Amino acid sequence: MASVRDVLIIGGGVIGLTSAYFLAKRGLRVTVVEAGEFGQESSWAGAGIISPGHPRRARSPLGRLRALSASMFAELSAELREQTGLDNGYWPCGGLELRRSHDALERARIETILREEQGEGATCELLEGEQLRHKEPALAETLPGAIYFPEMAQIRNPWHIRALIAACNQLHVELRAYSPVSDLVTDKHCITAAWTPQERLIADKYVICAGAWADRLLQNLGLSLGIRPMRGQIALLRTSKLILHHIIMGGEEYLVPRRDGHILIGSTVEDVGFDKRTTARAIAHLLETAIQWVPALREAELVRAWAGLRPGSPDSRPFIGRVPGYDNLYIAAGHFRSGITLSPGTALLVSELILGLVPSVPLEPFRIERLAT
Ligand SMILES: Cc1cc2nc3c(=O)[nH]c(=O)nc-3n(C[C@H](O)[C@H](O)[C@H](O)COP(=O)(O)OP(=O)(O)OC[C@H]3O[C@@H](n4cnc5c(N)ncnc54)[C@H](O)[C@@H]3O)c2cc1C
Repeated sequence: MASVRDVLIIGGGVIGLTSAYFLAKRGLRVTVVEAGEFGQESSWAGAGIISPGHPRRARSPLGRLRALSASMFAELSAELREQTGLDNGYWPCGGLELRRSHDALERARIETILREEQGEGATCELLEGEQLRHKEPALAETLPGAIYFPEMAQIRNPWHIRALIAACNQLHVELRAYSPVSDLVTDKHCITAAWTPQERLIADKYVICAGAWADRLLQNLGLSLGIRPMRGQIALLRTSKLILHHIIMGGEEYLVPRRDGHILIGSTVEDVGFDKRTTARAIAHLLETAIQWVPALREAELVRAWAGLRPGSPDSRPFIGRVPGYDNLYIAAGHFRSGITLSPGTALLVSELILGLVPSVPLEPFRIERLAT
């Protein structure tokens, strides 16, 4: 008996929704099941930084995927706006990786990043003190310099999710919220159904896009990839006038200015399990860092703070590919700190996998077999 749907996607974050959109555009009948509400986990919590690359010059596997993906964002954003009337906040504002002190170690850190990024073909240049303050006058005078990335961009995550949901609806993707998949039914080398508390869902092909929860589903099949939640905390400020015009980064921390005066301050990387609480220590550290870099933020309004669970993978590379031992089960999960950046490229690869097409970047480095136990 033919299935009513070609593909069942499990998990409705940015990876699942973008994959569904790309598959539906190719004419496939797609259902996405989401444990809670669509896009309310890591994909909502993230800062929306899109790190640039150079599709032809990138040399590492992740660099190639990043470059492909980042290069798709302008067009995807325009397409979503045209189809749904919804703006995802795409803004190629550029970014600055700060040299935070005159310390020799800090100079070495910046030189390493510059070398690595230039090696990946990313457009970037070193700015010294005065050049830096010319670009971003609100930065503290004590900051000695920065690497400037003119092609760095941002989206506003909740807006992007909203646009993706609307675009999926227009293409008749079936979106089922509050439908956690508890089990996958197997028959030899095939998945024959997925169980939610409400029903048994049947499809020709199944794709696990369950973010930090992906290993829980795989464990039922006797597999473990080591995907685990990595908490990231964020604070949100508001200023009455625009103080910053670029994304400001310095190691793990960053500031992302929005065009309406909001400024995100991120983030921590914490291995604390499925715990989305914010802590006084982490938020105090983020606020102190922000004020140190941009003294004028001392008077900014503190709007709120939150945390999200990034899907960490053991080698910081996502898993994209067919699940070994099963002919019709695929995974796209474990995007750690760059799942927003990597989402269009991942969705393209998922659609190519499902349709049996040649992948746009080599899939070998993202295969499950590299780490599965
Ligand atoms: C603080 C923070 C800052 C970040 N900043 C950036 C950034 O600037 N740039 C960037 O590129 N990335 C950033 N990231 C990372 C990025 O947000 C993630 O890599 C990305 O959102 C992962 O998307 P996902 O769809 O795989 O996961 P999620 O968004 O977590 O989606 C997975 C979904 O699967 C659902 N699910 C789980 N189990 C089941 C089940 N059994 N059945 C059905 N549904 C299920 C969950 O409910 C969830 O909605 C940041 C993350 C955080 C937390």
